Amino acid sequence: MHAVVIGSGLVGATTALALHQVGIQSSLYDQVNLVQAALTSGGAPVAIDFGDSGGSVLISASGLRVLRTLGLLDEVLASAHPSPTITWYKINGTSPVVLDNINASKKSGESDEALQNPIQILRSKLHLILMSACRKAGIRTFTGKKLKGIIETNDSVTAEFEDGTTATGDFLVGADGIHSATRRAVFRDAAKPEYTGVIGHIGVVRLKENNLKISDACAFYLQREKKQLVCTFQMSEDLAAVQVMTFNDPVPVEGEEYRPHPDLPKESARLADLLESWGLPPHVQDMMRKSFRISPAAIYDLPDLKTYHKNRTVLLGDSAHGMVPNAGLGLLTGLEDVGVLLELFRNFKSPSDIPRVFSLYSQLRVPRGHDAAKRSREMAKQYYEGSQVFGHLLLRFGIFLFNYNLVTFHKIYDCPTEVAGAIKAV
Ligand SMILES: Cc1cc2nc3c(=O)[nH]c(=O)nc-3n(C[C@H](O)[C@H](O)[C@H](O)COP(=O)(O)OP(=O)(O)OC[C@H]3O[C@@H](n4cnc5c(N)ncnc54)[C@H](O)[C@@H]3O)c2cc1C
Repeated sequence: MHAVVIGSGLVGATTALALHQVGIQSSLYDQVNLVQAALTSGGAPVAIDFGDSGGSVLISASGLRVLRTLGLLDEVLASAHPSPTITWYKINGTSPVVLDNINASKKSGESDEALQNPIQILRSKLHLILMSACRKAGIRTFTGKKLKGIIETNDSVTAEFEDGTTATGDFLVGADGIHSATRRAVFRDAAKPEYTGVIGHIGVVRLKENNLKISDACAFYLQREKKQLVCTFQMSEDLAAVQVMTFNDPVPVEGEEYRPHPDLPKESARLADLLESWGLPPHVQDMMRKSFRISPAAIYDLPDLKTYHKNRTVLLGDSAHGMVPNAGLGLLTGLEDVGVLLELFRNFKSPSDIPRVFSLYSQLRVPRGHDAAKRSREMAKQYYEGSQVFGHLLLRFGIFLFNYNLVTFHKIYDCPTEVAGAIKAV
């Protein structure tokens, strides 16, 4: 079988690796247009680096399990920083509320110690790991391929690109993010992503060079009544990200959400001054002022889809369930999508099985996608609504319940177990 994968972001690249593991060939097609990534004169594909942009992503046990299945866990762990706690402060760095992530993982059912500690990793570093694994596996990536339309026949599907070229496969994977052209092409009446009015400005800073020390792996600073939210993440011994969410800034050009800001000195000074005016602790202001790049990200929320597949096309990652980033569940949910598709194809290998595979995929993933999006919306509400005093008190109470095992934070999602259960139930 051969698959056409639209989008070579984190989920698209991971999907291609998963398909490779079960003997399904695939090629990646991305709208990214890099001159240096064009095919070399000999016709062989060159190494593609999609550039240094974006900040940190958090991956917890369910996602780490998928990376382990793909043989990438050690490499990812070596490039990441453990995140044993999450701390929420008032905006000035007082009144900490601390979630014990390791305990939450254990209670969720994760028995492997190596996976109990969630990690923070630089998004571009993770992407580089995935893309070089794709290269080693012989998976080709074509850039400058902006999807325009999809044509299906009884036994194949063809992607049409804006440059006039096409690609045909037994099935097509839409991993082209929250503004997915795949989704628009297959579900013509599907709801559109809604702009939340929020822009995330993500700075990345070298700690040693700037003599900066941060004590929290992952920290949130909040002033709910004024809708002020700032977070910091440590991604390696030396790298950290600082992220400020603002309302009413101009929206970055769609599709360029993660491009670094072109006027860094002006932007870092503007944002650091903003943090100072909000009363953030000095080290957080300094992190923004000394960032070596700042990428804006417009925050959208995708209304829940009823299904993630149609005929020979299947959606994975943000194209299926793009969500607000407040609970840090977007990539994790996308990695679970990949893990489920992989296990389904492990069980059903023939082209004639595609309808069954996609139907089971939607059956398993749609409720999970809806749940993650709901939890993300609830977290955004907790951050942006209600009174500062009562909201923080409520958060303290909730985290107390989690830390002392009075409620379970979440349940581990093990893709092979979920797939086996669904197959048995058919
Ligand atoms: C500020 C912020 C912080 C976040 N933090 C976390 C976190 O801590 N933990 C977590 O799990 N998640 C987090 N997320 C979410 C996470 O980044 C996304 O869920 C994840 O990147 C989705 O990956 P994807 O591959 O599905 O989509 P994308 O990363 O959006 O990749 C889509 C790819 O498709 C390509 N493409 C788009 N349109 C076309 C087209 N028409 N034709 C061809 N190619 C196309 C794009 O160029 C891109 O390469 C965060 C998101 C934001 C905005």
